[in-house]
Amino acid sequence: MHEFGLAVRMIEIAEEAARAAGATRIESIRLEIGALAGVVPEALEFAYRGAREGTLAADATLDVTYLPALAHCATCDADFELDNRFGIADCPTCGAPSADLRQGRELQLRDVAVA
Ligand SMILES: [Zn+2]
Repeated sequence: MHEFGLAVRMIEIAEEAARAAGATRIESIRLEIGALAGVVPEALEFAYRGAREGTLAADATLDVTYLPALAHCATCDADFELDNRFGIADCPTCGAPSADLRQGRELQLRDVAVA
């Protein structure tokens, strides 16, 4: 399951950061996930609750910011939100197709709070 591997890896990175800071406990983990990253939010949260057991993140909260997918229209010189998961859509203003993604594939650990 993709989300479980992701949760395990995320906690490993957070533990490395906590140890480097001399901390014994992780209080929270903050993630940014784009709409096109292929992550199912419910599956990630379920995987996270299993993966954190026995780690420094055993009591850590998971704070996920989900980012909408944005494409850039060269004609309008503006970004618009994609309404599908394929990474290409027609600009709602002028109708030109765009696959110029500016946001949506993020899968980033933004912050780890330790104690
Ligand atoms: Zn346009």
